[in-house]
Amino acid sequence: MLSDCILDNSHIDHHSKGQAMNWQQSVLDIEALEDAELDSELIKAFEKNAAQSLARPIRFSTPTFKEYESSELSGCGKNSFPAFSITAGGCALNCDHCQKKILEPMIPAVKPEHLDQQVRDMVVLQNLQGFLLSGGSNKRNEIKYERYLPVVEKLKTDFPHLQIAIHTALLDEAAAKRMESAGVDSAMMDVIGAQETIEQVYKLDRPVADFEATLAALTSTKLKVTPHIVVGLHYGEILGEENALDIVSRYDVHALVLVVIMPFYAKPGTFKTPSTTDVGRIFLEARKRLPDRQVLLGCARPPGMHKRITDAYAVMAGLDGIAFPADGAVAVSDAIGRPFHQEHACCAIKIGGSESAQVSATCAA
Ligand code: SF4
Repeated sequence: MLSDCILDNSHIDHHSKGQAMNWQQSVLDIEALEDAELDSELIKAFEKNAAQSLARPIRFSTPTFKEYESSELSGCGKNSFPAFSITAGGCALNCDHCQKKILEPMIPAVKPEHLDQQVRDMVVLQNLQGFLLSGGSNKRNEIKYERYLPVVEKLKTDFPHLQIAIHTALLDEAAAKRMESAGVDSAMMDVIGAQETIEQVYKLDRPVADFEATLAALTSTKLKVTPHIVVGLHYGEILGEENALDIVSRYDVHALVLVVIMPFYAKPGTFKTPSTTDVGRIFLEARKRLPDRQVLLGCARPPGMHKRITDAYAVMAGLDGIAFPADGAVAVSDAIGRPFHQEHACCAIKIGGSESAQVSATCAA
């Protein structure tokens, strides 16, 4: 299924590349990074971990739910993994960084039977491979999926090939077990490491410990758990990221997805764009704290040159995958001698080979 979309450089002798020059020099010649202001100290820090990074291939994922094309890789353009919102555009939290905008492109399914019918139609008409179940949250940052789980269970029975992902928001162990019993395959949640961020950005009266408890509940099931950390969630400042990384490192997660705050979705003037150096440092910290886990750069991050530099840093920091890679990411991989391949799937769940296509940007819930 993926073969028509795959591009890789696995035939290249990676041991002979990226060794003559240092990394800074190697990436300076890349056309897409011609005008980039790169942080040479950070690049040196990346290069110190070269042995670890170059031993890991990187995956460039081009998901199907959004038009995608860079000059180096092309998207495949089939709607095989859509996102449904069980609250349509509604959310009681209305966080400062999102203002419900993450929900806008999702397909509304405000009744379980809407989900059921749309999924069945898509299986027949669009070769549906799976879907993401999401929604806005209540004031306690919970999403009430209970009514939907019988539909999920029936769909999974009728179409066992479907991969079903869910944005869980905060939950307890009983709710996690119900998702597991219904046949949900994978779970995503945002991990926030600073109390100030929870209170000010989410306007939520719950402790950091509740985010950790949710992660503990989810990882006590067979669900594949892919927590997200939003770099710069505190109005563009770095605040709770390292604590969030520590929290994630304590659990047996399937993968960690890092995304970068998009001030574009926020109230004008409230968020700054985190510097690419700050973002790159978090990549390095993530790699150090989760040396054996998949650490992926998810879809959401600021566009333009910021994205090119962010993606170049992700390649050099040794992250395991990038969704929608910017121009230059392939060239950076080649320049430093890092093996890569392209897959038509989402970063969050298509980890390591055998699973079907998957999806998602971050919600935040
Ligand atoms: S991030 Fe999630 S909880 Fe916050 S407004 Fe957006 S959808 Fe609602």
